[in-house]
Order: sequence, then C-alpha cells, then structure tokens
Amino acid sequence: MSCPEHIVQLIHKYLDGDIPSEDESRLKKHIQSCEGCRKHLHEMEKSIALVQSTSHLTAPANFTANVLANLPKEKRTVSINRWVK
Ligand SMILES: [Zn+2]
Repeated sequence: MSCPEHIVQLIHKYLDGDIPSEDESRLKKHIQSCEGCRKHLHEMEKSIALVQSTSHLTAPANFTANVLANLPKEKRTVSINRWVK
C-alpha cells in the first residue's frame, strides 16, 4: 500500500505548522483511513518531541547547584528549614 506523495508532503507541512486549514482537514481524513500515514505522523511527532526534550539539556549539568551556591547563606538556611518542617 502506497500513499500519494502529496499526502506525505501534507504530513510534513502539518508538522511544520505551516498548513492551510483545507489541507489539514484533507490530511486528517486520509489519516483516519490510512494506518501507514497515521504511524508515520506519530513517528515524526515522537522524534520531534524527543529533539525538543533533549534541547533543554543544553544548560550545564551543575546549573542548579551553582545557583544554590550563589544564594546568600542566610536565605539558604531559611528555605531549607522551611522544607524540613
Ligand atoms: Zn496514507
């Protein structure tokens, strides 16, 4: 089973967020009846989500520790006591 090339193009347009609403409804109609395109769309969405979640890791690993170390000592003690109670 192969899908029309323009439908595949629509999937990529849809993921780019650059799709006219009439094309979007055409794509959704096709996806409802076509498991291959549904899977393709889900795979693409998964990899996009993965890329977006890993891009958060660009902050240095010790970022939070550095922020805590730079807090005035008094404030640190107060906030820790607050958590302990
Ligand atoms: Zn299809």
